Amino acid sequence: MKTSLSTKSQPGKKGLNWGTAIFLVTAHIAGIAALFFFSWPGVITALVLYWVGGSLGIGMGFHRLITHRGYRVPKPIEYFLVVCGALALEGGPIQWVTTHRIHHAHTDRDGDPHTPRDGGWWAHVGWILRGTAQDHDQATLERYAPDLIKNRFYVWLDRFYYVPLIILAVLLLAFGGWSVMLWGIFLRVTLALHATWLVNSATHMWGRKRFDTGEDSRNSWWVALLTFGEGWHNNHHAHPTSARHGLKWYEIDFNWWGIRVLQLLGLARGIKRTRFDSATAAWRLVRGKSKRKRSFANAQTGRA
Ligand SMILES: [Zn+2]
Ligand SMILES: [Zn+2]
Repeated sequence: MKTSLSTKSQPGKKGLNWGTAIFLVTAHIAGIAALFFFSWPGVITALVLYWVGGSLGIGMGFHRLITHRGYRVPKPIEYFLVVCGALALEGGPIQWVTTHRIHHAHTDRDGDPHTPRDGGWWAHVGWILRGTAQDHDQATLERYAPDLIKNRFYVWLDRFYYVPLIILAVLLLAFGGWSVMLWGIFLRVTLALHATWLVNSATHMWGRKRFDTGEDSRNSWWVALLTFGEGWHNNHHAHPTSARHGLKWYEIDFNWWGIRVLQLLGLARGIKRTRFDSATAAWRLVRGKSKRKRSFANAQTGRA
């Protein structure tokens, strides 16, 4: 079945993206170099930033909040989460969201930017090195991210997404030294990139399917552990707007717990989640009661 789909579906395959390739090679070398500069402050900095970039930023911010709108937060909180996402260096938020929305619209079919049906290497990193995804033209952005291109902050951050990370790197070097900078920036970013890429490669190849979604998405416990819950990918494809991806108690989903903490603090509202409906014996998407005040509602809808 998989062989029937040839590489012709690789969208926008082109020559090597030299800038990206040189950066990724440099990041891997610097990440390995970090191992020779071991220090406990470096390890702790890397772990904290792995969570800030991977969970607060990519999982809770880029993915569940601004791509799928699985919940709502006040704009300052939204911007904070999205800036955390920029620290993962996975491109600007508008490009990232556009790529991911295209992935959901064409999952494992022609047009999917990173399906393993075009090869595991392609799905993992080949699409970044040679594809046109993450470099979408204006017409594609208008089609897939009309909500975000109206926002001037996101347009700015999309262009200068690397600036927060450069500022952080300078601060870490100034106040923590080489070990803290190498661990907190290069080793952490490199490992976190692979973790995210595994969601595109591994969870469309290996794991269990709870839902018959008509494509190859799977639930992978080990990818979920590396990505704070993003590995429950078959659950996610079945109900993309659900803010909760791990549906059973043993499906560890740190990003969902983070959203619950925001809810307990009164910051996250209108949360969509997948629940098991025992009456129909089926999983259904339900939307949490929105207790927000009218003024909050107006503030949210006033500007996209
Ligand atoms: Zn997927
Ligand atoms: Zn998604």
